[in-house]
Amino acid sequence: ELSTNQDFIDLEDRVAAHNYSSLPVVVEHAEGIWVTDVEGNRYLDALSAHSALNLGHRHPALVAAAKDQLDRSTLTSRAIHSDQLGLFCARLAGLVGKDMILPMNTGAEAVETALKIARKWGYLVKGIAPEQAEIIVMDGNFHGRTTTIISFSDNPEARDHYGPYTPGFVSVPFGDLPAIEAAIGEDTVAVILEPVQGAQGVRIPKEGFLPGLRELCTARNVLMIDDEIQAGLGRVGTTLACRYEGVEADLYTLGKALGGGIVPVSAVAADREVMEVITPGTHGSTFGGNPLAAAVGKAVCDLLATGEYQQNAANLENQFRETLEALIGRGVNEVRVRGLWAGVDIDPTLMTGKQACERLVKNGVLAMALHGSTIRLAPPLTITGEELRIITDALTDIVLCR
Ligand code: PLP
Repeated sequence: ELSTNQDFIDLEDRVAAHNYSSLPVVVEHAEGIWVTDVEGNRYLDALSAHSALNLGHRHPALVAAAKDQLDRSTLTSRAIHSDQLGLFCARLAGLVGKDMILPMNTGAEAVETALKIARKWGYLVKGIAPEQAEIIVMDGNFHGRTTTIISFSDNPEARDHYGPYTPGFVSVPFGDLPAIEAAIGEDTVAVILEPVQGAQGVRIPKEGFLPGLRELCTARNVLMIDDEIQAGLGRVGTTLACRYEGVEADLYTLGKALGGGIVPVSAVAADREVMEVITPGTHGSTFGGNPLAAAVGKAVCDLLATGEYQQNAANLENQFRETLEALIGRGVNEVRVRGLWAGVDIDPTLMTGKQACERLVKNGVLAMALHGSTIRLAPPLTITGEELRIITDALTDIVLCR
């Protein structure tokens, strides 16, 4: 009979591959911003499944949409049609301001899809010689775990011993416009970037970088692929993180929160002239765009279309920044905040990020440990200012060793 957190962790250790080093919390129940473990302890979830829970755990409207769809149809494959796919794509296209949607399941699949579209556009539209397409990526990127995606990662943990690697990618320093300009050649089809690097601890490019990149891509006939999988769907206070600076990309990859924390849903959004390079039989996924995913994704789009989640993130940004910045020099070296998203570099002489998150668990808060002594805070966008203070108070306690 399994009862304690440790019982479940021991079981997992024996039978589940060791590809994560998880915090010692075994969730039994979750609602809104709160999770409860099997021993009855309650935690404020400032981890949000890496922003897949932007709308919180089990948002009532999303649970209702899922339950309703469970009673109607759940899977068709794209060999036939469902009454949900078109409605979902229309809502999502409207939300992000693009003509067409290609639905997939996970973030990595959406990124793979965007890379394939860009290469194909390069050959069929831009007229690049066969096999020559080049895509520019950013140092420090995180776009997922497939063989091609890790081929252009510079993180040895993600990349080592998985070769041979996919060619055709050139990496430049994140946010370095002159380096990108110099890297663009006649075979360049696209630049792919995260508008804010979440995995790097909310690394925000200099103001003007994204608009500058937009201009450069247009001038050089290169597609701008904006990976909004973690930064998008309200996290920074705007529907898309690139809109923080008023920028529109050529392709968006979306995922995580698009599934409402219920099912995996991802997508690529693009205008017709780009998406048209995809024709029947040239790309697909058995589960991509399935009716259950589409019904939940549609309900997510409807919630985001109200703008209230984005607005809440924007409203709380200053409180979040001010309380975190007050810790600089008192156990914290640097903070980076945009919307309800914060990277906090704790003084490495005090503790690692992992140790910080373990201490936060003891104080009832879940946060994400990154490299070194950096942690990431990303509560659901449904949080109130008072609840946000629970997170910053807990962090204050652990860095001041109270
Ligand atoms: N792109 C970005 C920016 C991400 O943060 C992630 C996941 O953390 C991915 C892609 C990959 O998504 P998934 O884990 O669903 O494959």
